[in-house]
Amino acid sequence: MTETADVVIIGSGIVGSSVAYHLAQQGCTNVLVLEREAHQGKGSTGKSMGGVRAQFSTPVNIQMSKYSIDFFSTFDEVVGHPADYRAHGYLFCATNDNHLAYLKVNRERQNALGVTNVDWVSPEDIVKIVPQLRVDDILGGTFCPTDGFVDPHSVMMGFMLNARERGVRLWLDTRVTGIEVNGYAGILPATARRSLAEINKLELAGKAEPFRTSGGPAAEREVADRGGRVSGVMTTRGFISTRVVVNAAGAWAAEVAKMAGAELPVEPLRRQLVPTEPFDQLPKRYPMVIDMSTGFHFRREGKGILLAWNDPKETPGFKTDFDETFVEKILTHAASRVPVLAEAEVNPRRAWAGLYEMTPDHHAIIGPAPDINGLYFVNGFSGHGVMHSPASGRIAADLILQGHSDLIQTNQLSVERFKEGRLLEETAVL
Ligand SMILES: Cc1cc2nc3c(=O)[nH]c(=O)nc-3n(C[C@H](O)[C@H](O)[C@H](O)COP(=O)(O)OP(=O)(O)OC[C@H]3O[C@@H](n4cnc5c(N)ncnc54)[C@H](O)[C@@H]3O)c2cc1C
Repeated sequence: MTETADVVIIGSGIVGSSVAYHLAQQGCTNVLVLEREAHQGKGSTGKSMGGVRAQFSTPVNIQMSKYSIDFFSTFDEVVGHPADYRAHGYLFCATNDNHLAYLKVNRERQNALGVTNVDWVSPEDIVKIVPQLRVDDILGGTFCPTDGFVDPHSVMMGFMLNARERGVRLWLDTRVTGIEVNGYAGILPATARRSLAEINKLELAGKAEPFRTSGGPAAEREVADRGGRVSGVMTTRGFISTRVVVNAAGAWAAEVAKMAGAELPVEPLRRQLVPTEPFDQLPKRYPMVIDMSTGFHFRREGKGILLAWNDPKETPGFKTDFDETFVEKILTHAASRVPVLAEAEVNPRRAWAGLYEMTPDHHAIIGPAPDINGLYFVNGFSGHGVMHSPASGRIAADLILQGHSDLIQTNQLSVERFKEGRLLEETAVL
């Protein structure tokens, strides 16, 4: 018997789990989530810093954050599992007039969209929050007290456990190897269809864009030239028949899209984090602090401090090894902004690296694939997939079940924007 599901979700990270939760909430429970790893959270979700903030520059990111932070504030009651949301705030520190102008415009936009609690802070206010900070070159900044942190693993598990309690299935150790696109067999006239063999012949002659199905007996492998329809996925546990596939494969999303012949501009970019050993020379509680002069930022993590910095020399690729030379670079930025951090001990073996899933305009891609009915993207969060997971799951579920969402104007995030030149530009990427 062929396994079937109304919706198949590829990837069980925080995004796939949120989509599963939101589908189940809206009554769609015949959902199967496929995860190639033996455990959830082995992708970017388990590597994340867990930061959540509404202090963005574009309206769509601010809207997604507002929905998501409100959601995190009641997550434990609503989802029935803890998110460990800590409203410790984000503190942006400006060191030149451009930074100040940028924060001012952002703050006005945030305020207009209902994020009304972003406050201006003076260097004196900043020193009160973190007395150890060097502020001689700081002109001021902004602080939002409802920004803060969640535990990404707990959020992911909470979403998935709740979805499973409603009937959603999760298959671990199951890699998706292909997506079958059968076109409108029987609906389109025969002339509008091509057999796989014909397409292969054209491809070999360099005359056709790659558009390939996988799996299924050869006789079934007939695809529409354009305007196909998803009919199933091939996995290491066999074929699963479905009419809706959600790509929630994080940094690996482009290769999953390719299985259906779709283009998805998502690139992996390594990101490294360095925890210190227990360190008591900074307050027990303080916000995420961002030094806008270098992009260096840090927060408390248990007894130690978690240090982060986006190395501009990093190049795209599936690199998940931690580069030990990074320690010296980040400690230089740390000691420059917080002189006492020069005394912090770091064990490079406790540091780690993971992947951001970058798009050309640093915004997510959410919505249907243009030429393949039934294929949906929830990808390319460019480092914001944890904080935006509630909104993205809700938007994806709305689009799948109703064809629209009232949470945001969804065509802003469609993949077509790259071909149509409608790029968004988020400059507040950490
Ligand atoms: C160091 C670091 C710090 C970060 N800090 C923050 C932060 O502070 N705040 C924030 O919001 N975001 C942060 N991010 C980004 C955030 O972690 C990601 O945006 C988010 O986790 C993406 O979730 P996801 O579910 O889309 O992807 P993932 O968690 O990567 O999940 C994708 C899953 O798909 C599975 N998969 C892939 N291909 C297949 C296949 N063929 N078959 C079956 N399964 C497949 C993978 O195994 C994986 O489990 C950070 C990321 C890193 C690396």
